[in-house]
Amino acid sequence: MRIAAPDGAVAGMEVKGAQTGHVTRYNGRIADVDNPGHVKALLAEGAFVASLSGRTRRGIGYRCPTCQFGSFVTTCSRCGGTCEKETP
Ligand SMILES: [Zn+2]
Repeated sequence: MRIAAPDGAVAGMEVKGAQTGHVTRYNGRIADVDNPGHVKALLAEGAFVASLSGRTRRGIGYRCPTCQFGSFVTTCSRCGGTCEKETP
């Protein structure tokens, strides 16, 4: 799955394995992440699933009215708020 770093991330993302404690580093703003656990951890830190164009497109997702975080689900993965469907 292609994951994009949140705005403000400087040079990549790091995930610490829940069981192993091993830190996996993903360099760059966009990384292909195969490990579902890492995907979940990165999303929890504010990263998002990148579309082919690299950004969440308008009209296909939801946006959090509290923190403006774009998402494909109705629960904001950044602040836990309820996202509203984006209007084109
Ligand atoms: Zn939010």
